[in-house]
Amino acid sequence: GELSSSDLIQHEILYSAHNYHPIPVVFARAKNALVWDPEGRQYLDFLSAYSAVNQGHCHQKILDVLVEQSQRLTLSSRAFHNDKFPTFARLLTRIFGYDMMLPMNTGAEGVETALKLAKKWGYMKKGITKDEASASVLFALQKIVQALIVSCCGCFHGRTLAAVSMSCDNDATRGFSPLLGGNLKVDFGDADALESIFKEHGDNIAGFLFEPIQGEAGVIVPPEGYLRKVRELCSKYNVLMIADEIQTGMARTGRLLAVEWENVRPDVVILGKALGAGVLPVSAVLADKEVMLCIQPGEHGSTFGGNPLGSAVGIASLEIVQEECLAERAEELGEKLRESLRELQVRHPDVIKEVRGRGLLNAVEMHPVGSSKVTAYDVCLALKERGILAKPTHNTIIRLSPPLTITEEQIQEAVKAFGSVLEDD
Ligand code: PLP
Repeated sequence: GELSSSDLIQHEILYSAHNYHPIPVVFARAKNALVWDPEGRQYLDFLSAYSAVNQGHCHQKILDVLVEQSQRLTLSSRAFHNDKFPTFARLLTRIFGYDMMLPMNTGAEGVETALKLAKKWGYMKKGITKDEASASVLFALQKIVQALIVSCCGCFHGRTLAAVSMSCDNDATRGFSPLLGGNLKVDFGDADALESIFKEHGDNIAGFLFEPIQGEAGVIVPPEGYLRKVRELCSKYNVLMIADEIQTGMARTGRLLAVEWENVRPDVVILGKALGAGVLPVSAVLADKEVMLCIQPGEHGSTFGGNPLGSAVGIASLEIVQEECLAERAEELGEKLRESLRELQVRHPDVIKEVRGRGLLNAVEMHPVGSSKVTAYDVCLALKERGILAKPTHNTIIRLSPPLTITEEQIQEAVKAFGSVLEDD
């Protein structure tokens, strides 16, 4: 017979690595913002697989494309051309306004690609001195000449060694040394600190990697004007401005890209997650020729990157965002969500410390345990009992990021459930 939720959870614990701490609910079926477990219980999804299902679960247009394309061709590898990838590349670059794209699969691979691209550009175009032969000696002398990357404290760019090397989070890095060298850290949102680093090391810095809103850190929105200042500084010091829009892009924050909130154009943009509509891993790096052509044949790639199935899904993902005006939807529904949550905050100021976010990337931050007796995880468990699926980040933050196709009624249903959880304590 079919396995129950508790059987499935037990099997997962027994047979798979313990690298996550999930909320104990099993997804068996989903449509749009709704999810059902094996027992047929219904839930509203307020995580969207970390913003990968912006278009809603199992969107019919995506499923149709997936079935149609999978019956014709799924993989050519880029040893050859295929008849879908060029169309995807053309559409993506047109929509986002860059000369070229480089296709990968997961977000972390997109980040790796952007970092390699920045380094290559640093040596080839910026003229950073490459001194690999004597690098170890120079390193010992603290005089290393090499292409450096600056990243932000609190950042999250994925789990590969290069991506965790960008991080200052102990859980992400502890036990994984040696990490990638040549990386400098700066506080997120602090343009003055960034300028100090650029002043001191500018000649050797190839790129500044950042999230326009820090997602995993707990939906941290930088101060107004920060992104514009970053653009200015990157131009002034000839550093590539590299926006990781893997979580914030694809209309999540109420704009196609979150950097649009300050009308800035990064030199490099990384997309992932919802680029594959939660159906296939599809990621891409966008840049102009001057940067992109620094990578030449044989220097970088991926067996599945640019595959025709992923490309067909990518095209449909982009079309849905446009056809269904998902950015506008995210902006409007996000305002309503935050407004209703702030009413809850007024009623429970002892529990809720802050409601923040942009579009449908939002967080409720609670007072630390001690002043309030519940953790974010407790609240998420209680929400689950009321049919709402959300995931805590850190001890006190609950991210609320439903599919952008969610209805206003479903949003109000979730807020009501949240209210009833707080009333119970
Ligand atoms: N960058 C950001 C901003 C992310 O939020 C994530 C995933 O949460 C990643 C990169 C990594 O993406 P993936 O898990 O597909 O490797």
